[in-house]
Amino acid sequence: MLKEVILLEEVYKLCCLHAYTTDSEEIMGLLLGLANEDKTRLFISSIVITPRKVKEDSRVEIDPAILLQGSEAAEKLKEETGKPIQCIGWYHSHPKITIPPSHVDLNTQLNFQKYMDKSFVGLIFGSYQTLHNHCVRTEAIAFQTEVLKDKQRKERIITMTVRPSLDYPVKCMVEHCLGQFTNLCKTLIEEEKREYDQAQSNLLPDQILGKIHNLAVHNKTLTKLMELYIDPIMASLVPHK
Ligand SMILES: [Zn+2]
Repeated sequence: MLKEVILLEEVYKLCCLHAYTTDSEEIMGLLLGLANEDKTRLFISSIVITPRKVKEDSRVEIDPAILLQGSEAAEKLKEETGKPIQCIGWYHSHPKITIPPSHVDLNTQLNFQKYMDKSFVGLIFGSYQTLHNHCVRTEAIAFQTEVLKDKQRKERIITMTVRPSLDYPVKCMVEHCLGQFTNLCKTLIEEEKREYDQAQSNLLPDQILGKIHNLAVHNKTLTKLMELYIDPIMASLVPHK
């Protein structure tokens, strides 16, 4: 039975950065890593950031194509490292809502445990949690789904530990993880581009003013993305002195 999840600090940082990209919608991604022999401990060394299929409040959907993307990335890392890396977990965010997994989360997680691996783990990042003194904090949990005797589903909280990557000989896994920072920036831009294309396609060819308006909104959003997300993400990659 899974007891502990160890995350490389880059993985933890990247999941948090991904969760901070929006305070109104859930984000999600997959976790790559390996399990020890008796599957009591997981070591998470990288992630795969996935674009949202449906952009809606408090809702994440897992596309089978995304799972395939996770397995392919794991396969590639397995070849490069010679280690049995697999797609071994998923993470998503709960912006402004309580951190425990919802019924949908518990069912999704149970399916992963059944069809992917029994040590498959779910992480939830509770971002933008406001405290009484108006401070905002982030909480994170790791969980699996347990089926009780009466068939009810319940979460089982797993110990989560964040460790410096320098403690492990995992250079190329860290490189893959850092590459995902770039992917995060790309994903944000792609999502905005999709919304812009959708808005433009809703207009008739002679609705010129509408098109100019959409373009202005698109440019404003891209500038905001640069200022509020992409610049800080890049700044976080500069090593501390
Ligand atoms: Zn959830």
